[in-house]
Amino acid sequence: MSARPLAIGAAAIAAWLLGTGFACAETTAAPPQPVAERIAEGVWLIPGGILPKRQPDGNTILFGAGRARFVVMDTGRHAWHRAAILDFVRARHGTIIAIVNSHWHLDHVSGNPELKRAFPDARVYASRAIDSALTGFLARSVESSRQYLEPGKLPPETQEDIRNDIATIENGAKLRPDVPVDGSLSISFGRRVLRLNLARDAATAGDVWVYDAATRTAVVGDLVTLPAPFLDTACPEGWRRALAQIAASPFIALVPGHGARMDRGQFATYRAAFEALLDCAGSARSKTECAEAWTQSVTPLLGPDPGERRRSQAMTEYYVEEVLRANGGKSAYCGHGG
Ligand SMILES: [Zn+2]
Repeated sequence: MSARPLAIGAAAIAAWLLGTGFACAETTAAPPQPVAERIAEGVWLIPGGILPKRQPDGNTILFGAGRARFVVMDTGRHAWHRAAILDFVRARHGTIIAIVNSHWHLDHVSGNPELKRAFPDARVYASRAIDSALTGFLARSVESSRQYLEPGKLPPETQEDIRNDIATIENGAKLRPDVPVDGSLSISFGRRVLRLNLARDAATAGDVWVYDAATRTAVVGDLVTLPAPFLDTACPEGWRRALAQIAASPFIALVPGHGARMDRGQFATYRAAFEALLDCAGSARSKTECAEAWTQSVTPLLGPDPGERRRSQAMTEYYVEEVLRANGGKSAYCGHGG
């Protein structure tokens, strides 16, 4: 089976196809909720993940805004991920006053409606890119993914994710921002001042990355992901510019959209590997060589799971050949509903 994407919500796609055992189709219980980790004064990380046979969840960050008020950055895909967010806030008798979405991919926004049901005054801050995505990438994802719902085509967990993603897209209006981010700006959320930086035409048509000056933390969504950059809807040149802007900020800790926290040196490693990967994709070198070079460069950033290197290699080969080279060096959605 080739590493063909489900094309639903820009997923990490190939990951479950690789060594997760499609034949092993018994249903398993819902995974345990992720646990929040304090990473700086008044800043907590609820880690996302890519579980076998499941689509990914992105990382969530909670910023304390004083008086038990919280700003939530990204809301995950699965019910157990948003339950972890809600449990964290409720355990502190707190309130969610704002949600910031780094971008519209479903592993980052699917929790928005449930969090807003729980805290109706919460306002969603995001770029307007989801509007064109709902009629472009996401609409096409629904069409192309229905075929995978026939019995036996995929493991039941994956089919459950697809059904939930389709429901999320069909209620896509509920994902849209209350406060569109049309340019970079600083916002005071209670005592927390966050800089919302808009990066146009990068991982999506509008990515928002956040800088918290009080703790010198940058939360960058899928502008930084491991084990591979998720290039499904990417405009590579804008993405390069966004990484340069992040590098120019004085962060000491960086939270990627997927994967572990990074310091400046680790981010520099990622950025150099990313630039080299784009250069390789534009050269005559084979997809295997490009992916091997990428995987070698980011190995110090990958977790201890030996499957990570295998996933890195396969996903990167797919992105080089079927996303970048198939569309003249950018994704098919760059400038068209991505
Ligand atoms: Zn993501």
